[in-house]
Amino acid sequence: MALIVQKFGGSSVANAEKIERVAWIIAEKYTEGNDVVVVLSAQGDTTDDLITKANEINPNPSKREMDMLLSTGEQISVALMAMALEKLGLPVVSLTGWQIGMQTNTEYNNARIKALSAERIKAELDRRRIVLVAGFQGINRYDDITTLGRGGSDTTAVALAVVLNADLCQIFSDVEGVYTSDPRKIPGAKKLDEITYDEMLELASLGAQVLHNRSVEMAKRYNVKMEVLSSYVRKPGTKVKGVTKVEQSKISGVAMDTNVAQIAIMEVEDEPGIAFRVFQALSKEKINVDIILQSVGRNTTKDISFTVARTDLDCAVAALKEAQKFIGFSDISMNANVAKVSIVGAGMMSSPGVAAMMFEALYDSKVNIGLISTSEIKISVLVDEHEADRAMSAIHARFFET
Ligand code: ADP
Ligand code: ASP
Ligand code: MG
Repeated sequence: MALIVQKFGGSSVANAEKIERVAWIIAEKYTEGNDVVVVLSAQGDTTDDLITKANEINPNPSKREMDMLLSTGEQISVALMAMALEKLGLPVVSLTGWQIGMQTNTEYNNARIKALSAERIKAELDRRRIVLVAGFQGINRYDDITTLGRGGSDTTAVALAVVLNADLCQIFSDVEGVYTSDPRKIPGAKKLDEITYDEMLELASLGAQVLHNRSVEMAKRYNVKMEVLSSYVRKPGTKVKGVTKVEQSKISGVAMDTNVAQIAIMEVEDEPGIAFRVFQALSKEKINVDIILQSVGRNTTKDISFTVARTDLDCAVAALKEAQKFIGFSDISMNANVAKVSIVGAGMMSSPGVAAMMFEALYDSKVNIGLISTSEIKISVLVDEHEADRAMSAIHARFFET
């Protein structure tokens, strides 16, 4: 007998028929004798629809009230799934983030987990009940509802796997596993049998939404046995683990992120302390800066370009304009029509020429590169958003389809 955490994404529970299908998957694991804890996301596009509804009433609602609203989607899913399992004659209980003791910090809309007691879940498992948990939600020290950021149900599932010391954490989705690129965009994308936590973390952070990046971070820290698989097709999926058995290929995947915007500030003084002032103004607003490029100085000035999340663009520009006198720049420009295309792979450390192959693919398909950034296991380029799909296809074809 094992303790298994299963998580089903929004598309897997989008309607009554799908809920009933998932109920059978859960029932099978339970009747084999396992303890089963299930995390669910909101049905289909519910979360997006709730955001639209909010904006119809107030385009700038408080983050607290947004979380109050968004958390309802997951609550609907667990209640409906409990009813489906009751119909199969199985003992089941559905619980909210508050009921499972999911304590988070106070950062509404993007809260981080601080503690998870899970006493209630353990008690329910002892009574041999299937436990259904509303994903993505927690509660902060003011007893207010918080949410963990878009895609955060994966992180709920991994956190539960950690505190319950689960034998396995299965993430069921609408794809058969982790692919070399988004299979909905790149028809030639290939399913990976396994991938390391490090590579998966990079892919997820660089736009491959198949897993919430914080779920992978946590799985890595606590060595959680994790598997991504399909709710529709009964096949082994992709195992995410510390070390993989297969020999490493040059790269393991190509990802794209369109939640990116570029900012350039012109003619800052070429002297110590300027970059500090720029990025301090942004960090005060809790804005993350990603790729940074500083031009070579001319006369006594230089330009600084960098990227931020597109959702932070307005706030970043406002913060910089407010600090303009203090920083001392002549002008600021912004571009929200950019995207970041990245390749990820631990194998690139031992394979020279990977960057050249990537840039050649972009050159052949006439895609111009804006900024470039690299780390040991990834290379990212900033391109025009309208060229991003073409860029991703060309790079994928160069590495995986020849
Ligand atoms: P869920 O609702 O189950 O959480 P998501 O929509 O969050 O599912 O994530 C699954 C989607 O991630 C897939 O439908 C696919 O389009 C996308 N995706 C992006 N990159 C990858 C990749 N490398 N491998 C698999 N899926 C990917
Ligand atoms: N329902 C939330 C979202 O759409 C959380 C999740 O799906 O993981 O982002
Ligand atoms: Mg998801």
